Amino acid sequence: MRTLVLLGPPGAGKGTQAKRLRVRLDIPHIASGDLFRAMRDTPGVLAEQIRGYMDRGEYVPDDVTVRAVLERLCQPDAQKGWILDGFPRTVAQAESLEQWLQQRTHSLDKALLISAPTDVLVERISGRIVCANCGAIYNLQTRPPRQEGVCDVCGHALSRRTDEEPDVVRTRLQIYQRATEPVVAYYRAHAKLLEVDGSRPMGTVEIEIDQELGLHE
Ligand code: AMP
Repeated sequence: MRTLVLLGPPGAGKGTQAKRLRVRLDIPHIASGDLFRAMRDTPGVLAEQIRGYMDRGEYVPDDVTVRAVLERLCQPDAQKGWILDGFPRTVAQAESLEQWLQQRTHSLDKALLISAPTDVLVERISGRIVCANCGAIYNLQTRPPRQEGVCDVCGHALSRRTDEEPDVVRTRLQIYQRATEPVVAYYRAHAKLLEVDGSRPMGTVEIEIDQELGLHE
C-alpha cells in the first residue's frame, strides 16, 4: 500500500502533479475539495453549511472533513493506496489520518510539499477558469482557450470558481498560512516531509518529485 499526502497552498500545482502521479503510481487521487464540491451540490442542510464555508474561502470544520475523507479512503479503489490532495490541512486532521492508518497497521509513507511565493500563487489562481460541464481547466495568462470564454473540449461557457476571485484567493492563502503550516511542521517532525519548489516550470517540478519519491528509472 502506497500512501501519499500532497501539501501546498492553492495554486502551487498540487492538483496537476497529483493527476500525473495517479497515472504513474496507479492509485486514486483523492482531493478533499472535489469531495466537498460534490457534497455541496447534493441537496440538504450539510450541503448548505459546506457551501457557506467554501464560498467564504474558509475551512470546513475538522469533524465533517475527517469523516468525509476517511469514508472515501474506505472505498474499494483506495485499498492499494492513494494520493491525498488538500487534506490534511490542520494538525488535528493529520493526527486523525495517522490514527486511522495505525488502526490498520499502516503509517503514512510521505508528505510532499509543493510551495511557491504568494504573488505567483495569486496570479496563477485568479487567472484560472474552468468548464463546469467537462472539468477542463484553463489559465488566462498561461493556457487560454482558443475562443474567449468557450471550452475547447466541449464548447460550454467557461467561468471562474466563486472561491477563485482575487479577494477570496487572498483569504484562502492567509488561512493556509495560519492553519496549514503547522501541518508541514508536523510531518517534518515525523521525518515524512519531502519539499519541492513549485514556482518552476511544470516539467522541472515533475522531475524533482520523481527523484524525491525514488521513481526515476
Ligand atoms: P480546494 O479545492 O482544495 O481548494 O478546496 C476548496 C474548499 O473546500 C476549501 O476552500 C475549503 O472550504 C474546503 N476544504 C477542502 N479541503 C479541506 C480540508 N482538508 N479542511 C477543511 N476544508 C477543506
